[in-house]
Amino acid sequence: MSKLELFVYRRLKLLRRFSQIGILLLIVAIPILNHFQITFIIGTFYSMSIGHLDFADPTMVLQTILLQKQIYFPLLLAGALPIIISLLFGRIFCSWICPFNAIAEFIFWMQKKIKGKKSRKLSEVKNPRPHYFWIAFGISITIVMVFGIPFMSYISAPGLISSQVADAVFIGQVGLEILLIAAILIVELILFRRVWCKYLCPIGVMISLFRFKHTMNVKFEADKCTGNRKISWCNEVCQLKLNPKQNGTSPYCINCGDCVDICQKKFGKALTFTFHKEI
Ligand code: SF4
Ligand code: SF4
Repeated sequence: MSKLELFVYRRLKLLRRFSQIGILLLIVAIPILNHFQITFIIGTFYSMSIGHLDFADPTMVLQTILLQKQIYFPLLLAGALPIIISLLFGRIFCSWICPFNAIAEFIFWMQKKIKGKKSRKLSEVKNPRPHYFWIAFGISITIVMVFGIPFMSYISAPGLISSQVADAVFIGQVGLEILLIAAILIVELILFRRVWCKYLCPIGVMISLFRFKHTMNVKFEADKCTGNRKISWCNEVCQLKLNPKQNGTSPYCINCGDCVDICQKKFGKALTFTFHKEI
């Protein structure tokens, strides 16, 4: 393992937290800067401009094409960078950038702290079949096409959070849309832990479409593993309750690296990130 890899693995979680906090601050800073006519960076997680570069959520690009029934080259270009990042690094938008994931992680971290060790289940789980992932996305696309409404904008958690923060700064109030975010979090807390990011979010599904055999993913080397079926901490720390020791974490895995982090720091270094796994 190179020195750089070692450096990154040892600080993986810290680096991710810096990124998440930085993004949350940025979401607040953008409308404040814009308010003072500083417009180098404008927009939300639906679409954003940094200098002369435009970026757009690929889901919004697809939705616009479906609604307008036309393909605009500048729009495709705006969706290109997020797609390239996904092709290289998988769903790191979810784990390093998305404000909804940052908020959800914080809430579940708080819940874990309050409940303590009693809430922990250490037995290994099986990864869900990939087709569950496509059902909600298929329904979203169908609603967009049949009713001709931008349904995926209405349920884009990162888009809603960033646009509501902008509204709060600009007009001093937030819309009812924020209730959807609150409702998702309450349902996740009470009934289905992290169900939105795991199965339902169209943004997460769209990102996961852009992967190939060299897209970054978690690699497991069984001969180095010091855990067992009863004590599987890599499985326990996974917020989406995936099992990185088994095949089938894709397309659900958001490459957060929490399993890699704990394995590298406390166990046999059996989990690493790789760009070489066959899919
Ligand atoms: S699945 Fe959706 S809400 Fe969850 S982290 Fe990814 S983009 Fe954000
Ligand atoms: S399998 Fe590992 S990298 Fe993937 S989401 Fe779970 S903890 Fe994160």
